[in-house]
Amino acid sequence: LAGRSCYRIYSEEDDEKGRREHELSEALTVSLKTASDEFYVVYQPQYDLCSGQVVGVEALLRWEHPAFGPVSPGDFIPLAERRGQIHEITQQLVRGIMGDLRDARPALQGRPGLAINISARQITDARLGLAIGPLFDRIRELGWRPEIEITETHVMNLSDQCLETLRALREQGVGIAIDDFGTGYSSLAYLQNLPVQVLKIDRQFISSLGGQSGGSQIVTAILGIAEALDLDVVAEGVETQAQYEELCELKCQRGQGFLMARPQRWQQVQDIIADPYRS
Ligand code: C2E
Ligand code: CA
Ligand code: CA
Ligand code: CA
Repeated sequence: LAGRSCYRIYSEEDDEKGRREHELSEALTVSLKTASDEFYVVYQPQYDLCSGQVVGVEALLRWEHPAFGPVSPGDFIPLAERRGQIHEITQQLVRGIMGDLRDARPALQGRPGLAINISARQITDARLGLAIGPLFDRIRELGWRPEIEITETHVMNLSDQCLETLRALREQGVGIAIDDFGTGYSSLAYLQNLPVQVLKIDRQFISSLGGQSGGSQIVTAILGIAEALDLDVVAEGVETQAQYEELCELKCQRGQGFLMARPQRWQQVQDIIADPYRS
């Protein structure tokens, strides 16, 4: 009997979850068509860990629905992928960034990167180039460097056509990063054939740093791979001073995380870029 009632509780919860997902998905479809003001972009600075200089920003999409409130991209991106709406997501992202860049103060020294997240299955979508081409032109005009981030789990399954598109982007000077590195199954041989420059170490490995009992083996291993293949590394999800210091000791060049700056609106992020030690 207990087993049966347990079963009922779980299935009701599953129903509830399914219902919410369905509602969200319906709402997303409507919002993507009609309510572009519900979407906006936040930017998280990336730092050179030793100098403390901002070397780039990552653009992250936000969706604020009038009834559901703020919905996390961790929730709505998978819904959009399932419904084949990821192109519409990128359109909202591009629209948001283009609007923000209208109000852009002159860039600093160097060529800071402006990274966007791209789903692997989009790479061979002919519409992608049309959507990001003008954005990348604008980014270059401002003296910044366009970058894309692709999640590692998908990087293993890229077709030859995908690789070709990535190589073409690479030749146009677009930076290519593998996101969430360490969570997928990239082999060294495979990495060597990818036109990438940057590995972003997944947050789960950074969170194990800075404790008494090590936890740095995987980060050390990834840094070794990067060095062997002549790639840059970005540590993501740096939350504590101890993690920051250990990353510096391990000679990880770049980092991103709540310790230094949360993702924020363009206006604020420009203040940070101009004066990284403000807060
Ligand atoms: P991601 O690309 O791995 O982005 C990093 C996520 O970690 C962001 O979550 C960011 O806010 C969060 N984060 C940064 N620093 C810290 C930290 O120190 N601690 C913790 N706990 N979290 C930190 P967000 O913005 O919720 O995005 C989640 C995911 O959604 C992203 O993961 C990315 O895969 C996807 N995403 C976001 N925007 C877009 C987009 O425009 N297009 C696509 N295709 N995917 C997107
Ligand atoms: Ca990313
Ligand atoms: Ca990531
Ligand atoms: Ca992620």
